[in-house]
Amino acid sequence: MRITRMTAVAGAFALAMAAAACGGGDDSGSDSGAKGIVGKATSDKKLVVGVKADQPGLGLQTGGTYTGFDIEIAKIIAKGLGVPETGIEYKTTVSANREPFIQQGQVDLVVATYTINDERKKVVNFGGPYYIAGQDLLVPTASTITGPESLAGKKVCSVSGSTPAKRIQTDYKDAKLQQFDSYSKCVTALAGGQVDAVTTDDIILAGYASQDQYAGKFKVVGKKFSEEPYGIGLKKDDSEGCNKINEILKASATDGSYKAAWDNTLGKSGTAAPELDVTKLTNCS
Ligand code: GLU
Repeated sequence: MRITRMTAVAGAFALAMAAAACGGGDDSGSDSGAKGIVGKATSDKKLVVGVKADQPGLGLQTGGTYTGFDIEIAKIIAKGLGVPETGIEYKTTVSANREPFIQQGQVDLVVATYTINDERKKVVNFGGPYYIAGQDLLVPTASTITGPESLAGKKVCSVSGSTPAKRIQTDYKDAKLQQFDSYSKCVTALAGGQVDAVTTDDIILAGYASQDQYAGKFKVVGKKFSEEPYGIGLKKDDSEGCNKINEILKASATDGSYKAAWDNTLGKSGTAAPELDVTKLTNCS
């Protein structure tokens, strides 16, 4: 009896080990260890991409559809990896859950106004940058705020887990920082007079300012006080995937697809497409 039970336990253990070796049924077997986005795209023809859902011009969800520059960049990357548009599943992310979503495998990639920086690089990898934004302020048209130095005592809204919120906390301590989980909530608070300013990247603020419902109400101050290079986030150990993303971005700079991505989204306001500086792409360490 005792022997039988031991055998059963040993058998269950062996089964568990076999399941673990197969990666829990994920992806097909490759003996080169963990599979990154290149392997997944090749075998499944599918990718889950984390994007913003409330940032007009960049990542905006309307019904079941996502639109914006980040969405177009995601499509370029997916296409370069051999994944058709129908194989992309968009998953809404907010600023604070981008690293955990990548680390936990809830998304394969993040294309979500996502600044590349050393702190984030400790836990995720980044392809790009595909755009360089800068922190700025959105204020009511009649506001006397002229830059971050005039924020002392003012209520400033930003998003938890974002670089702009952190910069206010560390460099502009006299400002009264209010944090939400998304910028649209900050903009609603600005419209309602509950805060004096919203701070994040200039390109995000410009998107809100140009929304019909806020016509004539807000202005972007226009004094950038940081550099925010937008990267494409992926698992920290996926350097193959990172290199491939950079290769795809490089190609998009010359084949017209990067310019088209801009022209069809943010460029509709009349701003010419920026130059994608391929000399600045990350080294994917
Ligand atoms: N680019 C900044 C960041 O990644 C601000 C925009 C955002 O929160 O998505 O934190």
